[in-house]
Amino acid sequence: MLRLPKFALLEPRTVSEAVQLLAQHADARVVAGGTDILVNMKHEIETPSTLVSLERVAGLHGVRAMADGRITIGAMTRLAEVATDERIRRAHPALAQAASLVAGPQLRDMGTLGGNVLLDTRCQWINQSFFWRQALGFCLKKDGTKCHVVEGGSKCVAAASNDTAPALMSVDAQLRIASPRGERVLPIDELWLADGIYNKKLERDELLVAIELPPTPAGHRGAYGKLRERGSIDFPLYGVAVRLDLQGTTIARADLCAVALQARPLRLSKCAEILVGVDTASSAWDTAVDACAQTAWKLCHPMPNIPGDHEWRREMVPVYVKRTLRAALAATGPVHHV
Ligand SMILES: Cc1cc2nc3c(=O)[nH]c(=O)nc-3n(C[C@H](O)[C@H](O)[C@H](O)COP(=O)(O)OP(=O)(O)OC[C@H]3O[C@@H](n4cnc5c(N)ncnc54)[C@H](O)[C@@H]3O)c2cc1C
Ligand code: SF4
Repeated sequence: MLRLPKFALLEPRTVSEAVQLLAQHADARVVAGGTDILVNMKHEIETPSTLVSLERVAGLHGVRAMADGRITIGAMTRLAEVATDERIRRAHPALAQAASLVAGPQLRDMGTLGGNVLLDTRCQWINQSFFWRQALGFCLKKDGTKCHVVEGGSKCVAAASNDTAPALMSVDAQLRIASPRGERVLPIDELWLADGIYNKKLERDELLVAIELPPTPAGHRGAYGKLRERGSIDFPLYGVAVRLDLQGTTIARADLCAVALQARPLRLSKCAEILVGVDTASSAWDTAVDACAQTAWKLCHPMPNIPGDHEWRREMVPVYVKRTLRAALAATGPVHHV
């Protein structure tokens, strides 16, 4: 049985108290739902002496809808709530669907949207017990000097594996971030770094307070497609979020964003360009869906960083892009294997 190492638990009541504690304790980490960081601590991938819990911090929980159509989701809002909130399901279907497919029901009841956005990258060579990693001779991400995925590689390419990230990118979410220096707002696309060791432009004393979603137009459609081996609890082997904004039957705006490839989620702008201006009631729609799928295949290169044969995962890219585009248009819900 894996045991948690010893740590001090601090329980601030306000955001300013929380960020002060993070600044005072150099190796402190935030714990939200704890469904990822506690596992990483058991595996000794992370070994903080202090955890700052957000559970009792006022103002971080819940969904608020503004009169102008914006929706603010507190960082501590549970994924189960994001998946079932009617306002999110209506205005941001891809996000609700992505949240509904994270892990299993118990983990969605504990795991938060903030924790999902800030989830650590994953790799089959690092997400293992200390014993197993030691047997491998460790790797660049922790305690070692080489990468087992890219021979001779000098950069960690562990994969961003957070299901909600592409859905949030597809609707241009903004992140409200607090620190002892004040508050800043960051477009979600600007959060990511191409570094699997730490793939975020977030300082260690910064706290994600809320995720803000701009309004979507009346003709907005969205869907999330998730490739995984089991329908019950797996991390994504490939995830794609689709946005289609329709004016009548014509696509006025489109976005496709993908995850479970490399350290940062990917915006597939070339796919979006194919779709804009297409009349979905004409045969041009089927042609565009095929072209989009082929372009996504060219842009998405799954690596042997996460489980599942990476060549098979690549062949599944066009399959999931097509299915998810069609599900978005028909508003039939998420695409996943059960
Ligand atoms: C068996 C299993 C299956 C899983 N399957 C999936 C899956 O399919 N898809 C998926 O996306 N995830 C999956 N997860 C991972 C995890 O459950 C979710 O990503 C969840 O949303 C993480 O949220 P949390 O609140 O538990 O995060 P925590 O574990 O509390 O935190 C995660 C990270 O974010 C940081 N953090 C959290 N909140 C904040 C904040 N407000 N400000 C600053 N830093 C913060 C923490 O310091 C930590 O580094 C799985 C986990 C397990 C154990
Ligand atoms: S990508 Fe390489 S360095 Fe990064 S966790 Fe995997 S094996 Fe380690």
